[in-house]
Amino acid sequence: AKANGRGIFCHYNADMQSAADHRIRLEKDLAHGIQSGQLRLLYQPLIDASNQSLTGFEALVRWHHPTRGLVPPNDFIPLAEETGLIVPLGEWVMEEACRAAATWPEHISVAINMSARQLVLPSLPATVNSAISRHRIQPDRLELEVTESVFLEDSAGALDVLKRLRALGVGIALDDFGTGYSSLGYLNKAVFHKLKIDGSFVREAAENKETVAIIQSIVQLARNFRMTITAEGVETADDFMRMKDLGCHQIQGYLFGKPMSYDRASELVQGAPMR
Ligand code: C2E
Ligand code: CA
Ligand code: CA
Ligand code: CA
Repeated sequence: AKANGRGIFCHYNADMQSAADHRIRLEKDLAHGIQSGQLRLLYQPLIDASNQSLTGFEALVRWHHPTRGLVPPNDFIPLAEETGLIVPLGEWVMEEACRAAATWPEHISVAINMSARQLVLPSLPATVNSAISRHRIQPDRLELEVTESVFLEDSAGALDVLKRLRALGVGIALDDFGTGYSSLGYLNKAVFHKLKIDGSFVREAAENKETVAIIQSIVQLARNFRMTITAEGVETADDFMRMKDLGCHQIQGYLFGKPMSYDRASELVQGAPMR
């Protein structure tokens, strides 16, 4: 134990050791969990703002750990990214999402989240192409969601992979816009077909006129680039009206549906009323 200068002792050696142990165990568990079918995808509806019809789903991964129970993605995606497990995990997600999409009508799209680490793999376009052709789904029914963090490390490499993906005909969405760096410079890279405005930003607009003004100019700019604009994290009827009036094309959020099982999503596709 060591005094930290304020008279508080931190047992950093033991703490660091147990944190490292915990991490190693979790990493082993995750590697095993991916192989043994402990991952599930939930599907959250995306709604056309103009007529409130269903246009597709975003696939969101869940890990059902045998003893820890349900582990949310924010607790294991960062670990998967650091360890490289995101690559097999991401391939499983793509496979599962394409399999689901193949059972739904042509007008229903499926979006999956991609980490920066996957985007720098030059083999990614071939993997994506293989998945969509094996499942016989039109390329434009698959959307890959990426955040600006893909440009932080090897930005030229990531841009090249994105362009090759775009050439396959799959959609590429810029996710979480309004958080982090949010440089408008990425919008004109000619690779993004969609802009997703982050939920925190959407909800902030309820209280802050400046946020509304910022969203307004972002939407204008994105519309000039012929992008589809999706508002995420829409929880209230007010949020919905505000984002629709600001010119967002699509709405996603608890107001229209939480992430749900494949079975429930399929019912929704069949026209069952939304809960
Ligand atoms: P994201 O891509 O920004 O996904 C949206 C998150 O917001 C989801 O959290 C979703 O459940 C939540 N959400 C949706 N509507 C609302 C709403 O109205 N209000 C609020 N408060 N939250 C809402 P989730 O499922 O916990 O996922 C968290 C993050 O984990 C995702 O953020 C994404 O970055 C990552 N993630 C999830 N699945 C995958 C995956 O298959 N691969 C990778 N690489 N990342 C994933
Ligand atoms: Ca996303
Ligand atoms: Ca997002
Ligand atoms: Ca996010």
